[in-house]
Amino acid sequence: LSPAPRRPIRELPDELVSQIAAGEVVERPASVVRELVDNALDAGATQVTVRLLAGGVRLISIEDDGCGIAREELPLALRRHATSKIGSLSDLESVATMGFRGEALAAIASVSELHLLSRTAGQASAFLLDASSGELRPAARATGTTVEVKELFFSTPARRKFLKSDATEFAHCLEAVRRHALARPDVGFAVWHEGKLSEQWRAATREQRLADVLGEDFLADSVAIDFAAGPLRVRGRAGIPDAARSRADWQFAYVNGRYVRDKVITHAARSAYEDLLHGQRQPVYALHLEIDPARVDVNVHPTKIEVRFRDSREVHQAVRRAMESALSAPRAAAVSTQAA
Ligand code: ADP
Ligand code: MG
Repeated sequence: LSPAPRRPIRELPDELVSQIAAGEVVERPASVVRELVDNALDAGATQVTVRLLAGGVRLISIEDDGCGIAREELPLALRRHATSKIGSLSDLESVATMGFRGEALAAIASVSELHLLSRTAGQASAFLLDASSGELRPAARATGTTVEVKELFFSTPARRKFLKSDATEFAHCLEAVRRHALARPDVGFAVWHEGKLSEQWRAATREQRLADVLGEDFLADSVAIDFAAGPLRVRGRAGIPDAARSRADWQFAYVNGRYVRDKVITHAARSAYEDLLHGQRQPVYALHLEIDPARVDVNVHPTKIEVRFRDSREVHQAVRRAMESALSAPRAAAVSTQAA
């Protein structure tokens, strides 16, 4: 076997580095929606409006009334590893924002036509940055930010080929907003598709938001969970066995406000239903775990959908017990002992 011919080592151009990184962060329109809504929430938005065309492939526009981005920082917001959210390793250990890697906008801009329109409270006007040309000019807008993402994956046809129908991509986008909406009942959300209002969830109590997003039936067919164990608190609602579904599509778990897909939590929840559900029936639940940020690592995956617990047994036990005790309590009592 002859050795491969030696080729010189080169540093990749910035644009290409971003496009490669985009592969990890931006899988489909819903990934863009998730990242941009994260940013809106991190900016303190009270209202987030999502507008989509062609399932988000032609256009994703996300408008918020958050703190905005100062004119001189607009180009910086699009730079890789540029963030206002952490400044040191110790910040990372106690990070309370959804974002902190400073990657999303750079990644999205590298695989789309991105426009950033923003105004801070102190500015006399808004400014619009065209990511492709770098052109920056004054524009009109109230305080807050609008990010417009057009023609996703236009430069990476291989990626574009993996996209499903507009209807399917739209469903994934809506699911991304739904996950945020359940985490932040205090924020209003609206989703438009093809110029039509698809969903609107006004700021509400946690219970009301659950009813708005998952339906009144979910509220009627579930019991409240409120359980504290040492450094952990588990709240939310667990569906009664009769409310179980054939698919595991109504299992929402959050860690410190972040939607996660976590094997420990899923397994613990499943085991709480061990004697209550049979066969392939899937329980429904919305679980919110509050845990000391130092006891969970959120920097495991670029999309942060996976987390690592310092003590996963502790988490497993708390979730299982929280759900078991809620499910075994008499129903009326379970509803009336809801957390204040
Ligand atoms: P990260 O969220 O990890 O910091 P992003 O690439 O998503 O990285 O965003 C980069 C920076 O741009 C953020 O740190 C924030 O300062 C600013 N930014 C992005 N979106 C918004 C927004 N909707 N409102 C205010 N600032 C924003
Ligand atoms: Mg972000």
